[in-house]
Formats: sequence, structure tokens, C-alpha cells
Amino acid sequence: MAEITTIEIKDYLSQIQGKEITLSDLRKEFNILPGTKSFDAIRNIMFQLAEQRIVRPTGRRNGAYKVITQILPVPIFSVQRERRPPFELIFPRNYETMMEMDFANDVVIREGDLILISGVSNYGKTTLAMNFCGENIDKHPVLMGNEYTNPECEPLPRFLNRLDAMDLNKDGGWVNWVDVDGNDKFTLLPVRDDFAEHIVKDKINIIDWINIETGEHYMIGMVLDGIKRNNGRGVSIAVIQKAEGATAGRGGQFTKDFADLELLIDKLGKNEILLTIGKCKEYTKPVIGKTYGYSIFKGVKIMNFREVKKCGRCHATGYIKGAECDTCQGSKYIDCGGSGYVSKKPLQEEL
Ligand SMILES: [Zn+2]
Repeated sequence: MAEITTIEIKDYLSQIQGKEITLSDLRKEFNILPGTKSFDAIRNIMFQLAEQRIVRPTGRRNGAYKVITQILPVPIFSVQRERRPPFELIFPRNYETMMEMDFANDVVIREGDLILISGVSNYGKTTLAMNFCGENIDKHPVLMGNEYTNPECEPLPRFLNRLDAMDLNKDGGWVNWVDVDGNDKFTLLPVRDDFAEHIVKDKINIIDWINIETGEHYMIGMVLDGIKRNNGRGVSIAVIQKAEGATAGRGGQFTKDFADLELLIDKLGKNEILLTIGKCKEYTKPVIGKTYGYSIFKGVKIMNFREVKKCGRCHATGYIKGAECDTCQGSKYIDCGGSGYVSKKPLQEEL
């Protein structure tokens, strides 16, 4: 056999960019036996290719290389680049007024964005997720996660109850879940794990909720990254667990890293919900740190939605000299006043 050439090696490496390779892998690939000229030549070739920045020695063991992914600059002005408008996502509404949550006007959601709902156990996270689904039903969202189906791929009774409570065709409902032929306008996928693999490109994907079964919560960043990568021009809405009062979901900063909008959900007083805007990548008015209070009726209806602020009287402790603060009734927050609602798209006709 003729002696191995640099061109042959380069051709091969171009097909395995980003991977690791050893000298013995290469000798096997090219059928190079000990004692031949090529056996030693291959070491020199790799040395030259390292100088040309085609490969990089990993330093972990002798003869191991990382094949460098060859990249080219991305031209901007010399080609036609479409400027995409913001994604028209409708936020959950206050049931009594049918007006969107008022900060909806001030946050900008783009194609490919991830909205993260981090909340304490059993406290209104699914209500928000279902409301995002209902309000955007005409965009045919995708639902997945253990709040919707059981391991036998059957819808959960609680999920069906929530659909009914929102159903336009039932008493008090406001969402039309079906098309003219009676088929679901959403897609329910019985996915309870490996969410990123099942994300439907260019759609609103709602994942309720993401659990890291091994307890390695730092992995959540990788899961969220995978979801975003596969979402194309869609928007993903992911629900994760959060400890009471924590400023991030389980997984800490790793959860925030990939979120474009983060909504933190806590208890407010005895039976209300506190929504805090934890992170917002793009906004037209400052919204980060704003807090809102609301109640939930029948598991899905958001009632009395209003902006709240920390109680100054008890310094948001809920107590004054050991007794419950009578200004905030121990809830640590008081109403900001004003309506708390601003209409982006009043949809009274649906009432
Ligand atoms: Zn107070």
C-alpha cells in the first residue's frame, strides 16, 4: 500500500469535525500496520494538521486529538437578512375582565424563546401553562409532560377537568378547544421524559413539568438548551419546580441561563398566588422584579389579577412585634392600586 497522504487524512477528518480521534483510531481506519512507513508518517501528519488548526491535541493522553469544527464568518449586510417581528404570544388573562396580564404589553417574545415557569409544588404552575395553551389555541400548541398523561399514555382526569372548566361550550368556559370537525386544536403528546427529542419545531411547546429523576438539577440547563435548539421559530413554555421563596427553580442559575422570560410562582398569603418576573431578556418597559397577586378558581380561572408590592409596614416579614401585620394580613405584600390590567387584545366577544 502506498504511503498515507495528508490529503487523505484531511478528507477523513472533515467528515468527523467536532469528534475526538486517536492515532490508533486513524491507523485502524486506514488499515495501517506496524512497521510500515505510514505507521510513523501519520504522527507527523497529525502534528502538521495541529499547526494548521485542523486538529488540537486533547492533552488527556498521548496521540488523542479533537477534530476542530471548521467555521466561516456569517455575513450580515452583504446578503438579504429578514428581520422577524416578535412572536405574537397571548398571555393568560384575568377571568373577570378577560384582559391579558398587564406586563404582557411590556415584554417582547421572539421566535425560539423559552418562557420558564418556576414554582412551588402544587401551586398554580399548571394553571398558567393551561392558560397559555388556551389563549394561543389558534396556533395549535403542543402539550407534553406528566401533568397531562399517565405512563399508560392516557389523559389524566385532572387535565380533562381543567379542559372542561375552560371549555367555551361548557358553563363559564372561554376557550374553544376543537376545530369545526371536532378535532383537538392542540396536540397532546404522551411524553414524560427526553422532552427535547419530542419538541415540535416552529410550534408553541408547553412542557409541564420537567423533572430530573437523578436529582442532578444542574442538568436542567442542558435540557432547556435542547428544547430551545429544537424549537425553531416556535416558543417553548417549560414548567419546573422551585423551593418556597427561592429566586430560581431547582437547578438555580442553570435554569435562568436559557430562559428568555422567567415567571416565579409562590404563595401569597393563605390561598393566593404571587407571580414575580425573575428574568426578562427583552422588554419595552422595566418589568424585572415586578410582582403580581391573583387567585385561582376551579383550577384554571385567574381572578383578581393585580400588581402588588412589598408591605412597607412590616418590611415584608408579615409580622410586627410577633403579631400578624394588619396592613398586609401577614401576606407580606399589598396591592399597588390601579386596575392592574391593560388590554392588548380585548376579546370581550368571547365572554
Ligand atoms: Zn405587612
